[in-house]
Amino acid sequence: MPTRSVTERLEAGEVLLMDGGTGSELQRRGVEVLLGSKGDKLGPWSATANLDAPDVVQQVHQDYLRVGADVIISNNFRTTRTRLAPVGLGERWTDYARAGGQIAVRARDAINPEAYVAGGMAAPGLGMLHDRRETDVEIMGETEYRREFAEHSRILAATGVDVMLPEFVNFIADCVAAVDACAEAGRPVWLGVPWVTMDGLTRNGESMEDLARALRGHPVQAVLLMCSRPEAISVTLPRLRQAFDGPIGAYPNVGYNPMAPVGGRVQLGPDIISAQATSPSRLAEYAQEWIGMGAQIVGGCCATGPEHIMAMKTVVEAVRRRRGVGGAGTGGPRGAGDVEAIRQVRDAHVAAVNAGDSDAWVRLFADDAVQMPPNAPANVGRAGIAAWSGGFLGTFRAQFALAVAEVAVAGDWAFERGAYRIALTPRGGGAPFEDQGKYLTLYRRAAGGRWEIARDIWNTDAPPPGSA
Ligand SMILES: [Zn+2]
Repeated sequence: MPTRSVTERLEAGEVLLMDGGTGSELQRRGVEVLLGSKGDKLGPWSATANLDAPDVVQQVHQDYLRVGADVIISNNFRTTRTRLAPVGLGERWTDYARAGGQIAVRARDAINPEAYVAGGMAAPGLGMLHDRRETDVEIMGETEYRREFAEHSRILAATGVDVMLPEFVNFIADCVAAVDACAEAGRPVWLGVPWVTMDGLTRNGESMEDLARALRGHPVQAVLLMCSRPEAISVTLPRLRQAFDGPIGAYPNVGYNPMAPVGGRVQLGPDIISAQATSPSRLAEYAQEWIGMGAQIVGGCCATGPEHIMAMKTVVEAVRRRRGVGGAGTGGPRGAGDVEAIRQVRDAHVAAVNAGDSDAWVRLFADDAVQMPPNAPANVGRAGIAAWSGGFLGTFRAQFALAVAEVAVAGDWAFERGAYRIALTPRGGGAPFEDQGKYLTLYRRAAGGRWEIARDIWNTDAPPPGSA
């Protein structure tokens, strides 16, 4: 069992490397994963491997751990009654589920006791299976849907899994119910949202804002974009960052989805690399980009293999060195992690203003923050800031940018000084105008290590009206 909890490491702002695809890697190694699949509809996918080829499953996990994964996902994608029943194994689903957890925990204990096991459970996906545009909750009924996730989670928790990961959950309504049900097992819950689009939306056209809003108050620790094209993750992740306060992450597929071999469109050859549009080094570049966007958990999904995770490891290690975390052999400058964390608050600040999202803007401030805009009294406290910011962004559409001159951290406080430039377009009509000036922001470290804006003042470089 790891000595530091995954929660502690995420709250400290660390970046964790996840594993790559398991089902596709089993397929690559010759294990049957297509039992009961017809046309382009998958059966229980790699579930049966837990009893038919447990050694290969464990080997896949161990290979990911050897190349440096901090988190492996157990082979429980479809070890459910819903998905095993059609192949006549419904009554034995708990055996397949339990074995998946046990194999992953055994692999972890053998290779790296400090690594974490996420219990990865796919949503039933009945809408996709039956070509119905309905949520699983609608098709199964909420009670049955929740029962499947809750029972699955309890089985996995009993095997020693550290995190619950309901993944491949398609609709927001299903996401919320899955998170609630998985949390019953008493472990942190991460959510995996699949197939995000180049429009920054879910597969069903739902927005990251709506997703985050629906999840508010529900027990989800992290939200991850998964099994999507890397380009689509690069579009969608910033939207998720802006909408969701907790840790975020990404694990893309690369030029392959699990349906493909069934329909015969793409057959994985012996050399997985040549069959892919995205090479390990290219995926590592993406991982770097996503970490820059605030991702704390990165890995791979379908068709990514240990080669990809090895390449991503280099990027994660470099980030750790730069931020001064990660233990022996690292040792970046003191406070490097704080400067990076403050950069993320600043980026979120700029993004919120540009998106016209006053809620996201106000969330960056401490409860007792003071905001001092030019030509107006100070806004004291979050409520005052919310009133002013809401009015400002309601009046103008903004294009806002900052040029940072200095950032210094002293204990739990930090200051930042720089210049701003803003273009404002009145929403009610009228000529757009521009302003530029200087600013000073004081940040304070809040409980849990998060940095908040405590004081923010800016004023224009323009001469007072009538002086020219
Ligand atoms: Zn996938």
